[in-house]
Amino acid sequence: MEITIDRVRQKHWVETDSIMMKKFFPELSRDKATSSANLEASETQHPNESIKVVDYELLETDPGIRLPISSYHPDIQNEVRKAYLKIGRHQPPHNFVYPWSVQGKQRRRFCKNWFDLYDWIDYSESKDLAFCLPCFLFKNVSKYGGDHFVGDGFGDWKHAQRLANHATSSNSHVNCVHMGYALMNPNQSIKAAFVNQTKQMNVEYRVRVNTSLIATKFLLRCGMPFRGSDESLNSLFKGPFLELVDTLKEINPEIASVIDCAPGNNLMTAPKIQKDLAAACACEITQQIICDIADDVFFVLIDESGDVAGKEQMAVVIRYVSSEGLVKERFLGIVSVKETSAKSLKEALEKLLSINGLSLSSIRGQGYDGASNMRDVPEVVVRHQLQNYVRNVRCDPNFAKLKGLSDLCAKLVETNKCKTFDMVYKLLKLALVLPVATASVERVFSAMKFVKSQLCNKMSDQWLNDRLVTFIERDVLGTINNDVILAHFQEMDSRRFSL
Ligand SMILES: [Zn+2]
Repeated sequence: MEITIDRVRQKHWVETDSIMMKKFFPELSRDKATSSANLEASETQHPNESIKVVDYELLETDPGIRLPISSYHPDIQNEVRKAYLKIGRHQPPHNFVYPWSVQGKQRRRFCKNWFDLYDWIDYSESKDLAFCLPCFLFKNVSKYGGDHFVGDGFGDWKHAQRLANHATSSNSHVNCVHMGYALMNPNQSIKAAFVNQTKQMNVEYRVRVNTSLIATKFLLRCGMPFRGSDESLNSLFKGPFLELVDTLKEINPEIASVIDCAPGNNLMTAPKIQKDLAAACACEITQQIICDIADDVFFVLIDESGDVAGKEQMAVVIRYVSSEGLVKERFLGIVSVKETSAKSLKEALEKLLSINGLSLSSIRGQGYDGASNMRDVPEVVVRHQLQNYVRNVRCDPNFAKLKGLSDLCAKLVETNKCKTFDMVYKLLKLALVLPVATASVERVFSAMKFVKSQLCNKMSDQWLNDRLVTFIERDVLGTINNDVILAHFQEMDSRRFSL
């Protein structure tokens, strides 16, 4: 069918999106002669006449007499809704006199200020009734039922409290308001709003967990306890951890607002969170150390004197030459042993090493390999390299002021001579990692004594281990990026928010 457009009226036509451009609104006349039945009938009779346009001018705005949304063709219902939302709520002219009605013993009428109080209210001057615009527009698609504010209208001015209740206690109303918002803001549909909200929640989660990590790292480095005897909200001293978090909140208002607004189960300050963060720190430290050893030879030093709460514990320190040629002694961890027999110690050591991706056989193997490799090399070759080495370093000023074997080892790596004189370097490393008690081993054991004296005796092996590793090897902790620790922490519990 040929559509003719009245040029004069054209300016009133609603600008619609590309899909809806083709849909025209049925001609509605002001005399309301066109009923919904007629509209449907004309649709059926002329199926090709699907092109319709929504005309602002023709939309009846008085809520008492406007046509229900369901009376429009489904294809254009959203356009009609948009048009109504753009027009806004129907309010009588400024000078309109609201009629009185006798209700009970008193005269009552619609109060003008309800327009300010309730942002949804519509008033029909032809019927002296109040309606709800969002409910009128979406009630038929909302899964909730409607009420007087949609169909018959509300005129019970005596019970004006029901106006306040409509928006606050009606799921149907809230649902309709949301649908109106989604229709008018297609780029920020409810789903998009939800995604944005989730993003915001993740950002806030990150602030909270990062704050807890900073507090955790501080207390670990100091070898201080975490908990207080009274951690309730009004406690005068909530313990070092919570006090430190409060201090960080004081320094940074952003942290304060994020933590104070957190849901109760997501504060990220619970003891379990503190322990998981400490465990993540300890684990990353150990990984770093294992990485530093690479596949090189190392020796194990064991202190089995550690005895906390009647339990026999074995502290394990490993000595190795790092890739920079430096002799390092690092604390690997503690293990509980049933008894201090050699067999029991060996089993415990094997357990600890295997947890950390090392093995006892590889210690021996590497040790023997180093020696047996030497044994396989003809003596003349070794002697030849040794002579060359002596001649070479004697005339190299780099090697003039060395203070010992460890200095020599580091210098060989620095000058890259460890590769030229590989056998000399290997022998040197073997000599260096021999289990001789040194000052740095003492450093480890005295640090252990300090941490143990600071902390409560009744702590789990895991907690004690993590505390010791992070305190003794705090210089390693300082080199690890917080993001690495947080990633480790996240993997410990799949229910956590994403960072
Ligand atoms: Zn409503």
